[in-house]
Amino acid sequence: MRSYPRVLIAGGGIGGLTAALALLRMGCEVELCEQAAELREVGAGIQLAANGTRVLYALGVGEELRALSCEAEGKEIRIWNSGETWKLFDLGKLSIERYGYPYFTVYRPDLLSVLERAVRREKRGAIHLGARCTGFHQTDEKVTLRLETGATLEGEVLVGADGVHSGVRQGLFGADKPQFTGIVAWRGIVPMDRLPRHMVRMVGTNWVGPGGHVVHYPLRAGAVMNFVGALERSDWQVESWSARGSTAELAADFAGWHDDVHALIRNIPQPFKWALMVRPPMPAWTKGRVTLLGDACHSMVPFLAQGAVMAIEDGLVLARALALPDGDVPLKLLKYESARRERTRRTVEGSADNIARFHNRALADPQKARDYVAREWAGQSVASRYEWLFRYDAVTAPL
Ligand SMILES: Cc1cc2nc3c(=O)[nH]c(=O)nc-3n(C[C@H](O)[C@H](O)[C@H](O)COP(=O)(O)OP(=O)(O)OC[C@H]3O[C@@H](n4cnc5c(N)ncnc54)[C@H](O)[C@@H]3O)c2cc1C
Repeated sequence: MRSYPRVLIAGGGIGGLTAALALLRMGCEVELCEQAAELREVGAGIQLAANGTRVLYALGVGEELRALSCEAEGKEIRIWNSGETWKLFDLGKLSIERYGYPYFTVYRPDLLSVLERAVRREKRGAIHLGARCTGFHQTDEKVTLRLETGATLEGEVLVGADGVHSGVRQGLFGADKPQFTGIVAWRGIVPMDRLPRHMVRMVGTNWVGPGGHVVHYPLRAGAVMNFVGALERSDWQVESWSARGSTAELAADFAGWHDDVHALIRNIPQPFKWALMVRPPMPAWTKGRVTLLGDACHSMVPFLAQGAVMAIEDGLVLARALALPDGDVPLKLLKYESARRERTRRTVEGSADNIARFHNRALADPQKARDYVAREWAGQSVASRYEWLFRYDAVTAPL
């Protein structure tokens, strides 16, 4: 009989929970340690393209998530001041026809609770809450994970799914040096019934302007609209999800933008702001029995809406690699890493490329703006930026 390794996971975010679910379904023994006392995500939205929902369906949670999600009919692009609108691409049925799976927009706490329930169904005691990891030690045979409480856990594999400030990454490779992008991003949730009627639509919208952009899309069966606004300014450099800002400051950042943008801004009960940092793609992220996934090894600016989707793909590919019949644990982890490195590098770089695209100075001039949008968001250009992302199949990708 084939034996599957016992896997320790540090971090219970979207990536860690997906990995836990995939590993348990493959037959691995899993212990997941999350520092928070309860599994929670910030109350914000997330877009899950077909390459992510494909994995979630393969793991048996697609329909449960669908019941809590919105399936946007499509996406459109709008010019920051005139409001002129272009279709970016159709979604809804078209996502299923083209890629086999839907495009969901989801309230993050809903996604986390679906994953948590599914993990507990596989193994009730797999998730340890209030379990902050403080270090690890590995030998040729095993890895030992230390918790803040003084307790230790032993396994044959350790996965650092502990996010952008990953302690496991620092344990493997030392401290990193993130660079500030010069962009501050705002987020908020708008009750849909506070918006003018013409804005109450099941469509994702991307406003582009010189030095900034705004994205909004519906969540929770259309009960709320998720807002993200990014702006070039250098006076705020805190990389945190939970720093509060004020409506007045947010409105001032988007002075001169279309009334629809301001209708969103003035109806956000509490806006939050954070500084966007970038880290260069890592040339390697595995040592022996310890590896990384998700933001711990390939954080990116959120301008392709693929960070969490990459973590979801990682989780499944990692589980497939560890279930391979041949090879020892370090070799299987290297197979996982090499299956993921190039794709995630391209995604990190593609996301960064969108800074210049979304914030282009050509957008300041009305005529240049129309030409620029027509060119940059022409069917062929859009296809070359997104098709390779959406078509990837983590279930069958070669290892
Ligand atoms: C504004 C914004 C919008 C975005 N929109 C999208 C989108 O539309 N689509 C998309 O795919 N991606 C999006 N992303 C990216 C996405 O949010 C991240 O890529 C994703 O959350 C990464 O998941 P993760 O599990 O790797 O890390 P995290 O979600 O950061 O989870 C890490 C977990 O580890 C825990 N942890 C940390 N340290 C320890 C420790 N020492 N011990 C135990 N536990 C620990 C944390 O508490 C946390 O629960 C967006 C990001 C931003 C900032």
